[in-house]
Amino acid sequence: MFSSLFFSNNMASKTFRVAKVANATIFKHSRPYFYPVINGRSFSTATAKDHEPSFLDSVQIYFDKAARISGVSEKTLSHMKAPDCTLQVTFPIEIEDDKVEIVTGYRVHHSRHLLPVKGGIRYSPVVDEQEVAALAALMTYKCAIVDVPFGGAKGGVSIDPKKFTTAQLERITRRYTVELCQKAFIGPGVDVPAPDVGTGAREMAWIMDTFRQFHPNDVDSIGCVTGKPISLGGVRGRNEATGLGVYYGVREFLSYPEVQKATGLSGKIEGKRIIIQGFGKVGYWASKFFENNGAKVIGIGERDCGAYNPNGINVEELYNYLTKTGTFRDAPSVDIIDDTLKILELDCDILIPAALERQIGLWNATKVNAKIICEAANGPITPAADDILNEKGIIILPDLLLNAGGVTVSYFEWLKNLSHMRFGRMTKKWDELGKSKLLELVESNVGRNLTESERKSIVQGAEERDLVYSGLEDTMIGACQETRSTAASKKVDFRTAAFVNAIQKIAAVYEGSGIMFMS
Ligand code: NAD
Repeated sequence: MFSSLFFSNNMASKTFRVAKVANATIFKHSRPYFYPVINGRSFSTATAKDHEPSFLDSVQIYFDKAARISGVSEKTLSHMKAPDCTLQVTFPIEIEDDKVEIVTGYRVHHSRHLLPVKGGIRYSPVVDEQEVAALAALMTYKCAIVDVPFGGAKGGVSIDPKKFTTAQLERITRRYTVELCQKAFIGPGVDVPAPDVGTGAREMAWIMDTFRQFHPNDVDSIGCVTGKPISLGGVRGRNEATGLGVYYGVREFLSYPEVQKATGLSGKIEGKRIIIQGFGKVGYWASKFFENNGAKVIGIGERDCGAYNPNGINVEELYNYLTKTGTFRDAPSVDIIDDTLKILELDCDILIPAALERQIGLWNATKVNAKIICEAANGPITPAADDILNEKGIIILPDLLLNAGGVTVSYFEWLKNLSHMRFGRMTKKWDELGKSKLLELVESNVGRNLTESERKSIVQGAEERDLVYSGLEDTMIGACQETRSTAASKKVDFRTAAFVNAIQKIAAVYEGSGIMFMS
């Protein structure tokens, strides 16, 4: 039986609910997956457009498909699948004199098998409990895939950030953080949020500052959130981490002969024709890395229209234009596509949805004209579309693996915060000295002195960004190789393989630590 605990919130004279669902009744429906019941309602009631499963149901369908071949017991699987707890808060924000707006926020801890839990905070008008729960579940599996020792969580505030001033957004962010502080849903050892859609380094700085007011004696309080500005404890490389991770992942999969055979593509990034949907934090950086490594970004989709140029878009130029004008319309050197979803149907080698969930469904899956789809966004493909695309022979690189670069580097930032020191600070000069001495020996033996630039490139010790990139590259390559190996041994697609790996790793923690108060 689940239990809902009601607290009274004096600051807002409102109530909020913390639903403990770890030991919830799990109802088995006639459909082949379970619906957790939270706060008395099944998530499945959040029905999706066009009768396809909701985002949360989709994640559970993918989970179930992998669970069946994972070799993990039913008992552990049902425990793993149900979200541990959900917080919903409502609070008033004064937007003008005598005018308040009631804002609703959520934080879902999907699995606390490892602490802290980790996951971004999304600001969007369509945020609701089932969306946040779906994203939290994906975080649990994602962290396991890249061996980041965190549980999974996600937060959301149901607002359109474009409709608020900076001052109002700061008030909303701080107020939401106060709610998280009061209910112990934030803290370096408990729950460490990060940016997601509609939030960035600025919001993370406000969150950290608010948390610190409540915990003035906590020496690790700076580690309560990641994705912060560098000046406030952020780590170099976090901004671009998700996009860079996407690039490393695609580069790795392209190098596999079975992927080359299935797609007819060569193993190199150079010359590949890329289309990206969503030109935000993830989409922008992914486009930059593909362009810098010789690919041609031929199409970019945004919420009001798309930009297309078969000869290659100048990514920086278009990004500056979008930042200045808020649209691609009338941008130089691109054709405008009015129908925003059309961008997903254009002929390309690699399609990268990097905007939102449920962009490729039954309504457009048959029209997709890419050889590889790389899920930079969370949940962009519905299960029915996934089946169609697999049947068409399109290779899908799944979200829980491909966009894990963000949480990987967030982990590095958290470690930096707990160690209170920039990566490389203690070793850089020592490494340079050692390499200099070695070079002098080589030079005297070979009888030739290196030029100054040759010497510098060899001797230079690693800066923080170098170490972060190196750690991220190693993590993504390792996770891709594990996924590939499971896909081959179980003869399944990469998504199912990634889920199997995650389930098995999480099960090892669940089963190794036992369940409290169970015989
Ligand atoms: P963001 O808010 O920075 O960017 C999202 C972009 O998508 C915006 O430019 C927005 O205008 C655009 N967009 C919204 N609706 C669209 C539509 N219908 N068609 C085309 N474009 C649309 O968000 P982000 O951080 O880049 O996140 C994008 C996706 O990546 C989300 O699914 C998020 O959960 C996922 N993700 C983000 C991170 C991260 O580190 N930020 C990490 C992992 C996964």
